[in-house]
Amino acid sequence: MSSEIPVKQIDPSSDTSDNNKNTGTVELYASRKKIYVKGVKKGFFQRIRNVSLTALMGMYFLFVWFTVDGQPLIHFDLPAREFHLYGTTFYPQDFILLSGMLIIAAFGLFFITTLFGRVWCGYTCPQTVWTFIFMWVEERIEGSRNKRMKLDKAPRSAEKIAKKSAKHSAWLLIALATGLTFVGYFYPIRELITDLFTLQANGWAYFWVAFFTAATYLNAGWLREQVCLYMCPYARFQSVMFDPDTRVVSYDPNRGEPRGGRKKGIEPSELGLGDCIDCGQCVQVCPTGIDIRDGLQYECIGCALCIDACDEVWTRWNIRAA
Ligand code: SF4
Ligand code: SF4
Repeated sequence: MSSEIPVKQIDPSSDTSDNNKNTGTVELYASRKKIYVKGVKKGFFQRIRNVSLTALMGMYFLFVWFTVDGQPLIHFDLPAREFHLYGTTFYPQDFILLSGMLIIAAFGLFFITTLFGRVWCGYTCPQTVWTFIFMWVEERIEGSRNKRMKLDKAPRSAEKIAKKSAKHSAWLLIALATGLTFVGYFYPIRELITDLFTLQANGWAYFWVAFFTAATYLNAGWLREQVCLYMCPYARFQSVMFDPDTRVVSYDPNRGEPRGGRKKGIEPSELGLGDCIDCGQCVQVCPTGIDIRDGLQYECIGCALCIDACDEVWTRWNIRAA
């Protein structure tokens, strides 16, 4: 953590993209460049994420199957206007309790954000969690970042079609399980599955399962960081909760600069360099495709994968810890 967070100043006259040459204007539309995210296998923050992701996924996919005294553990029975939560039944007149719980949860979230920054975005937001699962599946099927880039550039072949089909099938299966589980909190899951596959469920059940399956597949498979950058309102107003003591992921230019390559074992000071060896690993692992060395950016979801990547590099290069 640095005491001063560098902020990148943008000079509009320096924008030399095709549309803006010589106009001194900043183009507000930019087509998306596909991000090939390198998987991070180890690291302190990745371990925290693995634990939180497993716990959250476990709760989401398993709680729907649990029952208490013959009642589902969590069941929002809209036709009967009864809401079963952990063995207690609530009725519409109890909604004031729900409002109270939601208000407490919202204040809790704001409080955590003030202390630890965008931990919600980096570790628990469903968009992040499902995107990480989809990226994990992608890496298992298509291979490492370099292999995926090569595969996308390669001409159509049997291998390419097989890998792409396997990936999209796996994504769709996960999306279907997500959709079924979500609807299962409103329509007891065992009945839902039986009714869906015997074509006896009502039309709304088919609609909502299809809707959540499609939403999961598109958001986690295709849109990914664009949901955080362009669609999520919470991402935009979180910065108002920050104060000078809020923890943020940042690059320390006092330590890292001037960056530059060098041979292993050479003291950076001998070459007049800082500790950053300019390996680019922090950029390659970033799920939003930014370079944290450019300073604090609204695209940063605070996942800290860049820290894990840099830690790994510095461990290999024997660069001392701060
Ligand atoms: S991972 Fe670390 S050493 Fe490598 S470019 Fe990023 S900040 Fe520099
Ligand atoms: S710069 Fe990228 S990798 Fe680093 S915390 Fe922000 S979003 Fe995560």
